Amino acid sequence: MKVAISACLLGETCRYDGSSNKNTALLDTLKNATLIPFCPENYAFGTPRPTMDLLQTSKGNRAFSNDTGEDLSAPVIQYAKNFFEKYHDIDLYIGKDRSPSCGVCSSKLYDENRQLLSSHETGLMTQEAQKQNIPCFDAEKYKGE
Ligand code: SF4
Repeated sequence: MKVAISACLLGETCRYDGSSNKNTALLDTLKNATLIPFCPENYAFGTPRPTMDLLQTSKGNRAFSNDTGEDLSAPVIQYAKNFFEKYHDIDLYIGKDRSPSCGVCSSKLYDENRQLLSSHETGLMTQEAQKQNIPCFDAEKYKGE
């Protein structure tokens, strides 16, 4: 089984603040799988980097920098498209919960005044995975198959 997985869950120090989200219980569950890590934000913006939030806009949900206010969605989406073009035989996708890029059903969505609208949204990378009809799970929800 080929599993696309947020790199920070494997212990890569690619979070915005240079830390990781290593999840040893999850990795144990996946010990017989081929893991293919991804981190769109590290690729696009480097580490460390300012955080970003998903905002509801007339163009759909977009990710905006909490530092500059800039719309940072395009490079994240492009990275995701390239990733799934390169790896076209992924069986399962596991994303880091609550990330605006990698969350599956757990990303927060705000309006333009940063009022919380929802805590059950899908990150930009995950949206591309879903377009490929890959089964997607938040890391904290995945308990094996
Ligand atoms: S949640 Fe996604 S974008 Fe954020 S550090 Fe982990 S892999 Fe990178």
